[in-house]
Amino acid sequence: MDRSADVVVIGAGIAGLVAARDLVAAGTEVLVLEARDRVGGRLLNEELPGGESIEMGGQWVGPGQDRILALIDELGLTTYPTFDKGRRIIELGRSRSEYTGWIPRLNPLTLADLGQIQLRLDRIARRVNTVGDPWRAGLADELDEQTFATWLRRTAYTARGRSLFRVLTEAVFAAEPEDISALWAAHYIGAAGGLDAVIATAGGAQQDRIVGGSQRIALALADRLRDRLVLNAAVTDVGWTSYGVEVRAGGTSVRARRAVFAVPPPLAARIRFTPGLPGDRDHLVQRMPMGRVIKVNVVYAEPFWRRAGFNGQAVSDQRALGTVFDNTPQDSSAAVLLGFFEGRHADTAARLSFEDRRAQAINDLAGYFGPAARKPIAYLEHDWAAEEFSRGCYGAFTAPGTLTRFGPALRTPIGPLHWAGTETATRWPGYMDGAVESGHRAAREVLR
Ligand SMILES: Cc1cc2nc3c(=O)[nH]c(=O)nc-3n(C[C@H](O)[C@H](O)[C@H](O)COP(=O)(O)OP(=O)(O)OC[C@H]3O[C@@H](n4cnc5c(N)ncnc54)[C@H](O)[C@@H]3O)c2cc1C
Repeated sequence: MDRSADVVVIGAGIAGLVAARDLVAAGTEVLVLEARDRVGGRLLNEELPGGESIEMGGQWVGPGQDRILALIDELGLTTYPTFDKGRRIIELGRSRSEYTGWIPRLNPLTLADLGQIQLRLDRIARRVNTVGDPWRAGLADELDEQTFATWLRRTAYTARGRSLFRVLTEAVFAAEPEDISALWAAHYIGAAGGLDAVIATAGGAQQDRIVGGSQRIALALADRLRDRLVLNAAVTDVGWTSYGVEVRAGGTSVRARRAVFAVPPPLAARIRFTPGLPGDRDHLVQRMPMGRVIKVNVVYAEPFWRRAGFNGQAVSDQRALGTVFDNTPQDSSAAVLLGFFEGRHADTAARLSFEDRRAQAINDLAGYFGPAARKPIAYLEHDWAAEEFSRGCYGAFTAPGTLTRFGPALRTPIGPLHWAGTETATRWPGYMDGAVESGHRAAREVLR
């Protein structure tokens, strides 16, 4: 089937859908090609046994994420707070602390070390973020020549301090500190407003959830596109000149004046461009792997942990399920604990059978919250690295020596080709908010 449009958008995640919406609003003929048989990309709702929706992909929003919050509002959707009342758990080495508020009860030396690591991290994050383009920051070369692991080794005084920051890295990036450029880590944290904003529940990025599940954002945006959206259309080949593009997806071929690629960088790298893309762009996407995560929602008849005074939040450097939250939807008849296998733990867990992985998750939950965790009524999991059109999550990051050499290629258009997607955002890259920013920015570029 041959079609034509002013602009073809590749990818119907939030970024592509927002770009398409802006372009349609400006009177542009748009066609969106989406590889999957659904919209939403890294947002995915599933059903609990009682029929309520639960998120298997991105889910939380928080203060400072103005763009996604405005979009939620415009679409007539609403949010509710993540359950946060009670004690949280932190396990570091052989010590376990149950605490409320901000400061865990840990050895004072460890606490002092955690404090000074955070102070230094926030300081470099602020300095990198003041220029918008992290590769132009004064500290850029110094940070981009080292991994985040090297930076942590040089900064932390205690083994426990290092270990907790490894867990935090896994929780934030779904990757190991060895994988990530220290410049990307500083950029990501700075662009979110600091470490507290990234890791906190109340007052931070995990504060609120969307009633009915986050995929509703994408479904609502797609609703308005109607026949401008083609599902099951994985783009494999793109021919381009300075005048336009011809995009091929299976039996569909689309001619357009411009194209917006709203796919994660490693997925863009799998598309064949003719002529081939300039070296800077190609080498950038060769050096941007995805993190790796298996998200697990374990369903119980009752929130037994709440009755024991826990808020369901736990962090450990001793368990494969390193981060846990109460993920019970609003007004749900069942109760849900959410856990993440992240980074190296996702590597290992993915090699297990389904039964062994489930047993591992439940065993870790019992370690945190007691034997009642051994009696779930349902277990849902999603391995994002196994998704052909995501290849991992939460997002892509850069290896050392990438941003300083090829950073500008992240967003700079090439002829009629424009780049969107959360990884290209200047604020909250990796989050839904960053995806919205990138969609607006790509649409503006095209309209200009
Ligand atoms: C488990 C998990 C937890 C997360 N938690 C949070 C959270 O709590 N809060 C938050 O803000 N963010 C979170 N995120 C990240 C958030 O989901 C993403 O930042 C956001 O959804 C990215 O949107 P996007 O449009 O940039 O990319 P995507 O959602 O990846 O959309 C890209 C689209 O392009 C399609 N595509 C790929 N290749 C092709 C091709 N060749 N042809 C056509 N289409 C193609 C894909 O199918 C996909 O639909 C999480 C993600 C995961 C997976």
